Amino acid sequence: RLEAAFARREEALARLEQALSRQRRFAADASHELRTPLTSIAGYARMLQEWGLRDPQVARESAATILREAERMQGLTQGLLALTRGDEGAPLQTEHHDLAAVAEEASQTAQTAAGEKVTVEYLRPDHSVNALFDRSRIQQTASILLDNAIRYTPQGGKVTVSVGEENGWAELEVSDTGVGIPKDQLPLIFERFYRVDPSRAAGGAGLGLSIARQIAEAHGGTIEVESTPGEGSTFTLLLPKKLPDATS
Ligand code: ADP
Repeated sequence: RLEAAFARREEALARLEQALSRQRRFAADASHELRTPLTSIAGYARMLQEWGLRDPQVARESAATILREAERMQGLTQGLLALTRGDEGAPLQTEHHDLAAVAEEASQTAQTAAGEKVTVEYLRPDHSVNALFDRSRIQQTASILLDNAIRYTPQGGKVTVSVGEENGWAELEVSDTGVGIPKDQLPLIFERFYRVDPSRAAGGAGLGLSIARQIAEAHGGTIEVESTPGEGSTFTLLLPKKLPDATS
């Protein structure tokens, strides 16, 4: 008996050690990601200080870079905050909502953001798709999937959004005709800071999908992906129609 208790304690310790080491890696990765835009901001600010008053071209260029990098840092810190909230198990504010309404709203916002680059088509279902979820978090998830679909789809491509339900799950699907993801990378894209091609993904820090999946899992759901390189990808958010511990 004592041995069993001892083994359990060892296991608990090992889990704690793992969690700590994940935490340490997260902090190290986050610092690293924040350092890059900061270096660039400092460099361009110095250039602005030295040459900006004499050369308006240098001034414009420096200011534009500083702004762009600062915006990147804003996105990054927002992402880090979202992940931390999720890690700490911040409570969900779940109510009954129509997933179709969320999808439609997100599609419209995405089309505005995409401009002429890609077409965003929303396939409206003929009835509402009700589920129990935290509206603002699911909105965030939908916009992460849509932002990615637009970002990784070349000019002239198409993004299609649809919702439905099956076997007690409410589904939101975002398909694109974009660059796709190699099969061996599929399990990795949900990891924090992971990017398939860091040089291509200017702007993204590799946090979007980890936030999206964390939100889905907090709801007892998940996100699935299918992809063919060169043809496109489909991400599906699955939410249980009822929360596991919900009585209604
Ligand atoms: P990022 O900020 O880099 O977009 P994400 O966590 O949202 O971070 O995505 C991780 C990686 O997964 C991206 O860098 C990209 O390589 C790949 N990815 C995500 N969505 C798509 C998509 N719709 N099409 C192709 N690749 C994608």
